[in-house]
Amino acid sequence: MTQLAVKVDIDSLRGYREGVPKMLDLFKKHGIKASIFFSFGPDNSGKAIRRIFRKGFISKMMRTKAPSTYGIKTLLYGTLLPAPMIVPSDPGILVRAVEEGHDCGVHAWDHVYVQDELARISKEEFRSLFERSADMFEKLSGRKPMSCAAPGWQISQVSLEVQQELGLNYCSDTRGRKPFLPVFGGRSYTPVQIPTTLPTMDEIFGLPGVDDDTIGDIWLKGMDSDWNVLTVHAEMEGLSKIDVFDGFIEKAKKSGVQFRTLAEYAEECRPDKCEIIMGTLTGRAGTLAVQKEE
Ligand SMILES: [Zn+2]
Repeated sequence: MTQLAVKVDIDSLRGYREGVPKMLDLFKKHGIKASIFFSFGPDNSGKAIRRIFRKGFISKMMRTKAPSTYGIKTLLYGTLLPAPMIVPSDPGILVRAVEEGHDCGVHAWDHVYVQDELARISKEEFRSLFERSADMFEKLSGRKPMSCAAPGWQISQVSLEVQQELGLNYCSDTRGRKPFLPVFGGRSYTPVQIPTTLPTMDEIFGLPGVDDDTIGDIWLKGMDSDWNVLTVHAEMEGLSKIDVFDGFIEKAKKSGVQFRTLAEYAEECRPDKCEIIMGTLTGRAGTLAVQKEE
């Protein structure tokens, strides 16, 4: 039986306000539950433009048609336009996701800041950023978030330590093959890592042979393991590519794929220890946290 968990990352105000409601409708239509990770605080998407100096960033922006995917305004937030707050702009969207039974957790307080500056963020600061998101989550939904997913698959000793201290049920910060207990920089940590196993749309879209008509089959063919995790973005699969995403879910259901959540994986898995290394992936600029090959 092929199992797939859909992991939704919400990076921006537009993704949250416009993409998430559409995705929730889609999940309801198909009768599936997803794992959804929210950016709570300021949308500083415009500052991501600093990544222009990083190898691979421009080609990714061109391939994915970033200005039309994210919207021109989004690309100016935090620079020419002030950074708007994401979840406070319409708390009902988060509440709806929780009430509809999705597995919800923390992506970031400030996505761009954490993704770009993590190496310089102290433990105290990381913890206080996480707690801001967690407090807002709890105030709105009545429960504490018990999971997180790192922005841009960036980790540090600090982020892993805080996750351990908070006693999270699982974290999805990495790319890899199957759930594992992370070892990083010679230290082991307890919250199980549930890695993303499939390439994301923004990594492969526009490469030779990858388009609206083929990407669903590429994902289906890529599902070889017991634990398949697909990360999608509210900004992309929730908006301009929602029909492509809809078609993929339809096809996956028809071919017998069982949709699960990361929380369910975390409960059922029997993870072994495995090292995390900082590696590179096709279509993604810079380095990211990868489960080491056995
Ligand atoms: Zn993200």
